[in-house]
Amino acid sequence: MDPLLEVKDLRKYFPLKRGFGERVALRAVDGVSFEIRRGETLGLVGESGCGKSTVARLILRLVEPTAGEVYFGKTSVFQTNKEELRQLRRKMQIVFQDPYSSLNPRMPVEEIVGEGLTIHKLAKGTEKKNRVAELLEMVGLGREHMGRYPHEFSGGQRQRIGIARALAVEPEFLIADEPVSALDVSIQAQVINLFEDLQTELGLTYLFIAHDLRVVKHISDRVAVMYLGQIVEIAEGNELYQNPLHPYTQALLSAIPVTDPQTKKQRIVVEGDPPSPIHIPSGCRFHPRCPKRFERCDQEAPVLREISSGHWVSCHLY
Ligand code: SF4
Repeated sequence: MDPLLEVKDLRKYFPLKRGFGERVALRAVDGVSFEIRRGETLGLVGESGCGKSTVARLILRLVEPTAGEVYFGKTSVFQTNKEELRQLRRKMQIVFQDPYSSLNPRMPVEEIVGEGLTIHKLAKGTEKKNRVAELLEMVGLGREHMGRYPHEFSGGQRQRIGIARALAVEPEFLIADEPVSALDVSIQAQVINLFEDLQTELGLTYLFIAHDLRVVKHISDRVAVMYLGQIVEIAEGNELYQNPLHPYTQALLSAIPVTDPQTKKQRIVVEGDPPSPIHIPSGCRFHPRCPKRFERCDQEAPVLREISSGHWVSCHLY
């Protein structure tokens, strides 16, 4: 089956001016490629600042790329004119991380959720009201919430409103950009379950972004791990969790607490903070922090290679 979304060698360099007129580039995304099949969920994981949210914004063309291609079906996202992009934005929606700042505090829920229906001329009057009520029910809220304002809701409920707003225009593809990071752990599972139920009900395709492998475990069919602007490992979910190959993925996984007291797990500690995307290390960009580095690692950059069926890793150990 043809992929619904194809990302090819995507790059985004932000030019920066420093003291004495020096110009440098912040390489936020530096050669990212992946595809997502229709109905699939790809989890995209990495520490904050690794470029995953920039990937999301590039896909939706909320920022212009430095290089690379994104195809939604057969349509090249970066080659569309204004009207084509407007149509495309109906098919691709995003749910943001922070439900506190992504909802206009001065708008009642009815307007927030119904805005897209007006912009895309999908419904008005009573039809629009009924559609908003239906969307709220879909996300576990109700008609009685329509006249209320964002501050009257809990964090989890606000994220449900954000999801209803994204679904209003009947998208095929949804980017969830750290949708549960700002929520209490007890609420996170409920919101993730909601995403799963909606996917089954509406046949949606997801790019699900998180900084924690624990969060994307149950929802993802495949998982991609990003480090400093690049994908370092990508595999089917079960394969990645049971057989992580890249030392960075191994470290991220070892940081997840185990619930079974019988299982003993050794925590792999990664040294230091991620380097700045302005000063990318030579060779393998993970080498200054890698517990398994050897001579070749600071000389030569590894490339992403398929080690077993569908399991890709970028590391000189393989
Ligand atoms: Fe570590 Fe070397 Fe592999 Fe990079 S290439 S992840 S430094 S072992």
